[in-house]
Amino acid sequence: MRYLVLTDLHANRHALEAVLEAAPPASYDRVLVLGDLVGYGADPNGVIERVRALDPVAVIRGNHDKVACGLDSAEDFNTVARIAALWTMHALTPDNREYLQALPAGPQRITDELEICHGAPFDEDAYVFDAADAMDALDAAGRPLCLFGHTHLPVVFARSGRGLAVTVPDGDDTVVGLEPGTRYLMNPGSVGQPRDGDSRAAFALLDDGARQLTMRRVVYPVERAQEAILAAGLPASLASRLAAGR
Ligand code: ZN
Repeated sequence: MRYLVLTDLHANRHALEAVLEAAPPASYDRVLVLGDLVGYGADPNGVIERVRALDPVAVIRGNHDKVACGLDSAEDFNTVARIAALWTMHALTPDNREYLQALPAGPQRITDELEICHGAPFDEDAYVFDAADAMDALDAAGRPLCLFGHTHLPVVFARSGRGLAVTVPDGDDTVVGLEPGTRYLMNPGSVGQPRDGDSRAAFALLDDGARQLTMRRVVYPVERAQEAILAAGLPASLASRLAAGR
């Protein structure tokens, strides 16, 4: 089965469209969405509707989705994130709010080999940044391959008898072969608000039959997403950070 893996879309319709153009329907069989469809960006309804039209095999909620649909408070958010969450709350259509409210928490098991979560398999809101976090997450994962998001940083952690290997994509398409007997934790990076210093939208394609994971980047019209953020009256820093990829 070939999966298109999307996470942290953050209401950035321009980035999502560029990803879907770079990965046309013929290139995958199923779609997995690891949460944070909304928050920060200016088109929450557009992104939710585009995701719904993809008919993903699984969509889980992120922390921004929970706040935007009223399931959680914004008290843990910084000021800018809180402003954006409140803006999103008012912008959502009732139907899309209900859609977010109904999204399941991670982890969700997809196959005997594969599961997905937003933050970590032991806590949907926890961040997996470094090797120590990754070891905890690998211990908690119920499947040999666990896909996650939340940090907006693309990375693959692989634990085998030889220890833990960390692969950070270098900007070009990065292909990782999945070896039997190794446990993997993979973050494709963020579609809508990359934070690794590369402004391009990030996503991944997983081919579990070929045991291959491809991490990709695609250019999108950042300035159009920025214009939409400013036109919506959202904080200007949310526009400038898109160009910096931070
Ligand atoms: Zn996020």
